[in-house]
Amino acid sequence: MPARSAVDAVVIGSGPNGLAAAITLARQGLEVSVVEGRSTPGGGLRTAELTLPGFRHDVCSAIHPLGMASPFLQSLDLAAHGVRWIHPEFPLVQPLDGGGAIVQERSVRATAERLGRDRKAYMGLMEPLVDSAPHLYETLLGPLQIPKHPFSLIRFGLRALLSADQLAKLSFRTPEARALLAGHGAHSILPLEAPGTAAFAMMLAISAHAVGWPVAERGSQAIADALVSILEALGGRVICDTPVRKLEDLPRARVYLFDTSPKVMESICGDRLPENYRAGLRRFRHGPAAFKVDWALSGPIPWSNEAARRTACLHIGPTFGEIAESERFAWQGKISDRPFLIVAQQSVVDLTRAPAGKHTGWGYAHVPNGSNEDALARIESQIERFAPGFRDLILARHVTNPAAMEAYNPNYVGGDIAGGVQDLAQLYARPVARLDPYSTPARDIFICSASTPPGGGVHGMCGYHAARSALRRFGIKAARPL
Ligand SMILES: Cc1cc2nc3c(=O)[nH]c(=O)nc-3n(C[C@H](O)[C@H](O)[C@H](O)COP(=O)(O)OP(=O)(O)OC[C@H]3O[C@@H](n4cnc5c(N)ncnc54)[C@H](O)[C@@H]3O)c2cc1C
Repeated sequence: MPARSAVDAVVIGSGPNGLAAAITLARQGLEVSVVEGRSTPGGGLRTAELTLPGFRHDVCSAIHPLGMASPFLQSLDLAAHGVRWIHPEFPLVQPLDGGGAIVQERSVRATAERLGRDRKAYMGLMEPLVDSAPHLYETLLGPLQIPKHPFSLIRFGLRALLSADQLAKLSFRTPEARALLAGHGAHSILPLEAPGTAAFAMMLAISAHAVGWPVAERGSQAIADALVSILEALGGRVICDTPVRKLEDLPRARVYLFDTSPKVMESICGDRLPENYRAGLRRFRHGPAAFKVDWALSGPIPWSNEAARRTACLHIGPTFGEIAESERFAWQGKISDRPFLIVAQQSVVDLTRAPAGKHTGWGYAHVPNGSNEDALARIESQIERFAPGFRDLILARHVTNPAAMEAYNPNYVGGDIAGGVQDLAQLYARPVARLDPYSTPARDIFICSASTPPGGGVHGMCGYHAARSALRRFGIKAARPL
């Protein structure tokens, strides 16, 4: 355990939000220590040789549209600290039965051209939203707030409260355009009939055009390493191998910020938090889990569709109905025989990920929270369906089921990788409904993880906003908003 020396702030957990909080505080001259339970920093940003030597797999996050959209991450000189974003030719490809594919290009127009009868509808929906993307990110990647650019938000918000199902039916006639929206909407990890899932669908579709869906060269770990390097340059430090169980384990500090699940924060803080707030934390809901597989491959995934070989990210689910059923099943305690998959093939664009001529694969399905059912065969059949011969290329695989996910990182309660359900009731009122959701009734305790607004993903915005809330407690107004 670290010596109980005094610092201004201690952050518990070194995920992107913990590091973002630490950097935001250190930028204001505060002395900050980050305490991490595992042997390396990074939380959801680690990269490791999970299968065979020389095969570098992103343990959690792989594709970074939210990183590109994040006003906080974009305010840092990540390039100077070693991050190189690699943009594939196409941000996203969604293979279809029979060898076709839905291809989302960087250009709205080029994407629309591929959507036949929905060409005009796609342009009409996406063009104004992509034009106002920076304003949308500023407002939506944070707590509920009065928007600085209300007109941009109104255009988005009128549709955002719909379900992805309603938006698809209202906007599009072709099964391809509807399936494209379904794949994006499924990142909410909610049934696609749930109100608000249209917002996820639109945000991710907009980001493909506005900022792209890159991977980080050498793996997502490069982003974590850069954040640590920036923090250290500001005088902060990260202490690893220190799982925190009680507040007394920590260096003395004026303020503590938890990059943890509400459950972990509650157990560490105990009666330093009043009972009614603790009861609120215990009511926090977690949703379906991820069942993830990493593959070491002897060659690139042999997608039938040629465009699918020229992207880093694929959505596997050819129709709205198939994707919707898969997501609904995860909420009903079942796993679809044809689960919706998010697949990444980083080595196609980043040669550092595998030995020469070899490749890595990364993919997961949404399954019921805590499920111990084996989804491996169903996941591999889904890939084989669109890439015949895939199984023959597998040299080794690493499987992470929901229990292993939580064992790896206690923030993934029951395997929930989004830091808690992101429905309308809990997206902004997370972890409990408070005017300032990052603060707690204890003056020196804050929460900064993905269990605060704006929720899951590598953007650091939860940490940034939590740190600003802590700075207000210190009576320090952060120099300038991002
Ligand atoms: C399989 C998977 C795929 C994903 N894919 C993407 C993607 O492609 N793009 C994207 O943007 N997002 C993706 N995500 C989501 C993203 O990784 C998370 O939303 C993000 O990492 C959350 O950041 P965080 O800082 O809130 O918490 P985390 O990244 O979870 O970090 C929390 C840290 O706190 C530490 N910790 C917890 N409890 C304690 C304790 N008691 N003591 C000490 N340390 C503690 C943990 O060890 C961990 O290092 C994915 C996640 C997973 C699991």
